[in-house]
Amino acid sequence: METKICTKCKNEFPASKDYFNAQKNGKYGLRSVCKKCCKKYYSNRHRENYKKEHGHYYVKEIKKTKTCSRCGNEFPLNDTYFFKKVIKQELANGEIAVYYGYRHLCKKCHAAVTLEKKRKKRYKELGCTESGYKAAYIEQQRFKKIKFKELANVDDKTRAKILRVFRKYGKMFYSEEDYDQHLIEVRKQASLKHRKYDYGNADFITPKMSSEKYMLNLTNARMAQSLGMSVKDVPEEIIETKRLTIKLKRELGLTHSSIKERNIKN
Ligand SMILES: [Zn+2]
Ligand SMILES: [Zn+2]
Repeated sequence: METKICTKCKNEFPASKDYFNAQKNGKYGLRSVCKKCCKKYYSNRHRENYKKEHGHYYVKEIKKTKTCSRCGNEFPLNDTYFFKKVIKQELANGEIAVYYGYRHLCKKCHAAVTLEKKRKKRYKELGCTESGYKAAYIEQQRFKKIKFKELANVDDKTRAKILRVFRKYGKMFYSEEDYDQHLIEVRKQASLKHRKYDYGNADFITPKMSSEKYMLNLTNARMAQSLGMSVKDVPEEIIETKRLTIKLKRELGLTHSSIKERNIKN
């Protein structure tokens, strides 16, 4: 391979564009000065030109302020106004250099952007729009205000209890009795849901009552119970009528469970 000697540093390099800049009428179509010397020369000339113009050499200015890219305001470049960010750079020798810079958003804008992102995520989770969410929130706040007015004369402990129940059931109970009544109602509804047999007017069923043997045995006590009374209070004929009715229902397939099934089908 042809070589060429730099006229400046006198080093010998391969005569290629990797070591010399191109020049049309030069030897091998290359300049006589190597790339390195060329660069040095021009940067030196630049420095001298700068000095001629400004009276001193160029000194890189250290930034004291930074303009936020979102709000466009200029702030002092420090921790009060900007969050730091870690910059990692892999060096040629494989080591990783770590240094710190500042984010391009001011702290205020950073908070706003983060909040916006969080909200969008929440709307997506709830499957609602921003306006829908806001309307629901306003309604909730309005409701809260009304409720707190109603609870103005109640002592702190009771109020806390009422609100705790409210959060659980979505209903306000102003007295213990109201709340107990509600709990009974809830239990009743739950009990009705899981009934296999017809228990008449009975609100709650005992484990004994839920057994098959007990249900198929049409005793006087059970007949009275299905009417919501005790045996003493029910005349013999009524118990007998009830028993016959249940037997008839069973023959016709009109048991509680079969009716339930039919309702589901319809
Ligand atoms: Zn050279
Ligand atoms: Zn900003």
